[in-house]
Amino acid sequence: MTLASTSELPRPILENPDPKALAAEIVKALRYRVGKDGSVATQFDWLTASILVVRDRIIDHWVKATKEAYDEGAKRVYYLSLEFLIGRLMRDAFTNLGMMESMRDALGSLGVELDVISALEPDAALGNGGLGRLAACFMESMATVDVPAHGYGIRYVNGMFRQEIHDGWQVELPETWLDHGNPWEFERRERSFEVGFGGTVESITTKDGRLERHVWRPQERILAVAYDTPVVGWRGNRVNTLRLWSGMPVDPILLDTFNAGDHIGALRESNKADALSRVLYPADSSPAGQELRLRQEYFFSTASLQDIIQRHLSQYGELHSLPDKAAIHLNDTHPAVAVAELLRLLMDVHGIDFDAAWDITKRTFAYTNHTLLPEALESWPVPLFERLLPRHMQIVYAINAQILLEARAKADFDGEQISRISLIEENGERRVRMGNLAFAGSHSINGVSALHTELMKETVFADLHQLYPDRINNKTNGITPRRWLIQCNPGLTGLIREAIGDRFLDDINALKDLDTLADDASFREKFAGVKRANKERLASLVLERQGIKVDPSAMFDIQIKRIHEYKRQLLNIIEAVALYDQIRSHPERDWMPRVKFFGGKAAPSYHNAKLIIKLANDVAKVINRDPAVGGLLKIVFVPNYNVSTAEIMMPAADLSEQISTAGMEASGTGNMKFALNGALTIGTLDGANVEIKEQVGDDNIFIFGLTTEEVAERRAEGYNPRAVIESSPELSQALAAISSGVFSPDDPNRYRELMSGLYDHDWFMVAADFDAYAAAQRQVDAVWRNSPEWHAKAIHNVARMGWFSSDRTIRQYANEIWNVPA
Ligand SMILES: *Cc1c(COP(=O)(O)O)cnc(C)c1O
Repeated sequence: MTLASTSELPRPILENPDPKALAAEIVKALRYRVGKDGSVATQFDWLTASILVVRDRIIDHWVKATKEAYDEGAKRVYYLSLEFLIGRLMRDAFTNLGMMESMRDALGSLGVELDVISALEPDAALGNGGLGRLAACFMESMATVDVPAHGYGIRYVNGMFRQEIHDGWQVELPETWLDHGNPWEFERRERSFEVGFGGTVESITTKDGRLERHVWRPQERILAVAYDTPVVGWRGNRVNTLRLWSGMPVDPILLDTFNAGDHIGALRESNKADALSRVLYPADSSPAGQELRLRQEYFFSTASLQDIIQRHLSQYGELHSLPDKAAIHLNDTHPAVAVAELLRLLMDVHGIDFDAAWDITKRTFAYTNHTLLPEALESWPVPLFERLLPRHMQIVYAINAQILLEARAKADFDGEQISRISLIEENGERRVRMGNLAFAGSHSINGVSALHTELMKETVFADLHQLYPDRINNKTNGITPRRWLIQCNPGLTGLIREAIGDRFLDDINALKDLDTLADDASFREKFAGVKRANKERLASLVLERQGIKVDPSAMFDIQIKRIHEYKRQLLNIIEAVALYDQIRSHPERDWMPRVKFFGGKAAPSYHNAKLIIKLANDVAKVINRDPAVGGLLKIVFVPNYNVSTAEIMMPAADLSEQISTAGMEASGTGNMKFALNGALTIGTLDGANVEIKEQVGDDNIFIFGLTTEEVAERRAEGYNPRAVIESSPELSQALAAISSGVFSPDDPNRYRELMSGLYDHDWFMVAADFDAYAAAQRQVDAVWRNSPEWHAKAIHNVARMGWFSSDRTIRQYANEIWNVPA
């Protein structure tokens, strides 16, 4: 069997660099920019030199794109996100510029292996999970579909923590991605803006006593300094800017304090500034309600807005045209304070009256909601908000007065509805509701899957939707096929090119041409061969890193994502325990060998999530060692799940676990990456699974469990998990085993509470869905048994996933929200 490799990429995408010339460029960069000679260069030096070589090419396009956007007076998109889960950039750049193989050859001629040095590139993890990865995919797609855009975020020195597993427990270590410097970024000292906190608000009145304007006199001042990273799209079409802010002291050292002998105190300002961009809050789907977090949110919001305003003013000289030239997007509520900040800048700094400023604001902002979990909706205690941002507090009250007025005028809202749309939560501790603020200040509010958007209208934003019925719209998430197919799965990419040609590289919908090949036995075999090779790669990695031997001919069943109770890793583990029990009780049955992989980080303060990681490892320890199982079932917890790990695991998956409680996963994007790489999904009708099912067809996906409505009904009628558990012998046995310490002999009570939680309340409906899940897994086994059938379904998945490209998502945002051509 011959497989096309990426070396056959028939690019002259840009300049089709000649490997000899490239090698000379690398040597030159090494010498004059890294300052090393080939004979003493470390692998890291080679990596830096290689990045500099590709970066030079990117810069040419960057300068051109920026100039063109300026000359044309093009409307720009500004994507504000507290998180960008970027991952490594070098391979992405090589892929998009079509120079992967030239670079491989060039480096090879210098005795350097591309795969070795690219594995040394730090994985930029400035995000927790799906939300941050979406922002990264969007950046790449905006460059690809030629939307002039800037991403704005924070340059965290310590991004997402590095996870190690010690004795089965998660241990969090700081990730120091900037240790070796960052050849991708450009520090722009000249692009810095002042950020204030605290202080007082002064009202300036005219001689006749009329209020003229407010002046905020902050007590603290910090500088935000820009660091720019170029983001290159497919075929180098366009290069956009990711601008990340770093905190700098206005006064790096307080000399008076120093001279008075307080050497530590003299660095106070420096430390305060440093703290702002020091760490990413490691929480996902739960609030991180500390003061520093609000400071971070305001810090990057105001720096970005000042930057946008400065750019707009320098080109147009006034701000009334801002909505025509700038679309500012709020990725979740983290930058929602920008709504009040833009109003402040327009009114207090630029002298525009409230009505006009409010109109400009609403026409400029759009907001994406990412979660319906009530505990994840951001809100800030009024006293804290007022202390840090006194002027913004006034503005929030002014906005609130405005929308409450509209509510009373336009709709006959009752008192309860009024209290629900208010920007201020009045029950108990008074809090500022950031979701309502973002909604009020935006002309468009979108959900991230069809189901999520409908639920938004019915739940969190039901009243605001009634008041402003034309604002909510849906934009189902997507993933960039460059990173999540072409780059991470060169084997499959090569096979597809061989089979249907290259059109899909530019138009991902052309993957549809693969559909008919699902019936072609020889294509199926090649497809299976690619999957097998990807599984072997994962198997050798797991052997090398964790010393666990897995059989690549077994089914690779993978659940990798943040660890959260709503994502129900627990359901998967319990099913594994039940299966283990079945295999031991019925060794005579013809079991299909499986390896269940888990991976994901738990928020450090999330007790149950961390315990679930320990459980997965405890269960793995017992099952993997039990000779009675004879390798029919293995469990592997892969540590430190991040973008780079995902790039290895997605292509190696046979089965994708997307089993959240229906109604709780806004969209999911892991589900899309798996299916695009030819895994079949076992999942609930949640988030984008619903649309994946529509695209791939009912026969090519394993759907089980309660629907969103059924979950709501069960809860309404008084869900009794104990009765459910007692009526399911398999489930009872599995829970009893875990609870009694079969997997934790060193601490038999370790899981007692976790299990009794399932009997007592089971908020995430694990018990209610267990039997359906177990039955679906046996159906999975049955299909897996018929290998040609399995692979045909897998091919249909690849063929029908084009719609989930983030290029499609971005085109929809561009046309329907931002009003820019794409
Ligand atoms: C895609 C991705 C996610 C999101 O996964 P979900 O299954 O949608 O939660 C999280 N982390 C990383 C590293 C990813 O690549």
